[in-house]
Amino acid sequence: MKTATYSKLGGGTVQVEYDEKAPCKICGEPVGEASMGGTDICPACDCGHCRYCGVQISVVRETIDGGKSLRNLREHMKWHREYPVKGGA
Ligand SMILES: [Zn+2]
Ligand SMILES: [Zn+2]
Repeated sequence: MKTATYSKLGGGTVQVEYDEKAPCKICGEPVGEASMGGTDICPACDCGHCRYCGVQISVVRETIDGGKSLRNLREHMKWHREYPVKGGA
């Protein structure tokens, strides 16, 4: 477990405990570090890019495109697991 610190509206901070190995809500990979978007979204997804190759990703709400963009991203992540990027992005 890890702890993330968020600043509260109107001042002060709040600490949230989270499981860094829990899957990201968007890409499904372990979150690792909590992002500004929350403890269940990884920093890469929060910034809208792929954590492995840096390509821009945009996942819209399932209610908008029926989950098409999310499926595309999950396919992309699956591809990375099969063909890991060497030397990092
Ligand atoms: Zn993610
Ligand atoms: Zn990628």
